[in-house]
Order: sequence, then structure tokens, then C-alpha cells
Amino acid sequence: MKESEKLLEQKRREMVDTLKRYGIDNRRVLDAFMEVPRHCFFEIETRELAYRDGAFPIGFGQTISQPYTVAYMTTLLVERCSSGKVLEIGTGSGYQAAILAALGYRVFTVERIEGLYEKAEKLLASLGFNVACRLGDGTLGWIEEAPFDAVMVTAGAPQEPEPLMGQLAENGCMVIPLGGHDSQQMTVFQRRGEDFSREVFENFTFVPLVGKSGWNEGVF
Ligand code: SAH
Repeated sequence: MKESEKLLEQKRREMVDTLKRYGIDNRRVLDAFMEVPRHCFFEIETRELAYRDGAFPIGFGQTISQPYTVAYMTTLLVERCSSGKVLEIGTGSGYQAAILAALGYRVFTVERIEGLYEKAEKLLASLGFNVACRLGDGTLGWIEEAPFDAVMVTAGAPQEPEPLMGQLAENGCMVIPLGGHDSQQMTVFQRRGEDFSREVFENFTFVPLVGKSGWNEGVF
């Protein structure tokens, strides 16, 4: 292994230790964070910042989420839906999709910004992650591939998008940050027949989910 690769692996281990200190204790999730090379989702010039526990700009006014946020959402999902098909809304850099693929899910992801979609699709394939990517309004879901065992929305929504709820399988769960512009509550819905249970967790701040069942374009 090259010296620089060893250093990156050591930094990745430190990131995982930080996640443990913050209370992330799911072994599968921690292993996935060790497996996915987060620095590859950053530009060469900013790679050294990849393992800090912070969000980072990825262009087009969007961000790659903080490792803690990714780990938190992933744990909520893994604990409720341990395998199967997952739909992610908001591909962004592709990092969250790679984490889900490393966990063994069949991953489908939708991004509305063409530049991000193209870059993430190429990157995920080149790293060997088997993820189906699509360009479009993710608030409408991915009807041809429904139902999904889990849905994860990685942008802040004013309310749960109806089409996504409709594309959940029985017992399927959706992890989604809900709220206003400045802050959203991490929320989990789980389908029970025609009903949905709802659990509410910590507050986070995400970029807005813009689409037909999200915020209107130009609101922010
Ligand atoms: N999961 C990403 C984080 C991306 S930030 C990662 O791991 O890097 C949220 C992303 O959601 C942004 O890229 C934004 O363009 C996208 N987004 C916002 N509204 C969307 C919509 N309606 N459909 C698909 N993607 C959307």
C-alpha cells in the first residue's frame, strides 16, 4: 500500500472513531464507513478535508453531508430494514449511495442537477459500486422499480412526499428530514398496511428538497 493510501486509511479510521464517540454503534454501519473511500467523493485539491466531521460544498450550491449525519440516517434505516431495495433521493456526490451499496442493499438514487448526476454515476461505477442512477425530480420516486424496502431522502422537505410513501413496500421505512428552511427533524415513517407509523429524532440542517412534492424552485 502506498504511503498516501495508508495515511488516508488512518484518517478514515479516526473518522470512524469519532462516529463511535458520537454514539454510532451499529457494527455494519461502522464497517461500511471503513470500506467506502470518502476522499474519492472530493476534488483532488480538497481530499485532505474528506475525513473531518463536516459537510462540504460539492458545487451547484449543494453539499456532501457530514459523516455523522450520514451515519445517523443510515443507522435508522439499517435498524428497521436490514436488506432489500433502497431508493435514495438526492444523489449529490454519491457518497451516501456508496455507503448503502457497501451495506449490501440494491441501491437506486435520483438527483435533479445534471452535473451532479453525471459525475456521481461515473464515480460510483469506477469505484465498483453497483448503484442505479437517474436524473429527475426524486419527489416523484422511481415508479418502475417500486416497491422499495426503504427510502432515504437526503434533502430537507416541507412534508413527506406522497409518491414516496406510496412506493414503500409493506413494513418499508422512509428516513426523511422534515421542517423549514433552517432546521429539520429527522423523521422515520414505516408502512403498516394502509397506515404509517411516525417517529421523530434529532434536528439537522439540509439543503432543500426542490420538486413537485417538495419546495418550489426559487423559494430559497
Ligand atoms: N446524499 C448526498 C447529499 C446530497 S445534498 C451525498 O451523499 O453527497 C442533497 C441533494 O439533493 C443535492 O444534490 C440536491 O441537488 C438534491 N435534490 C434536491 N431536490 C431534489 C429532488 N427533488 N430530486 C432529486 N434530488 C434532489
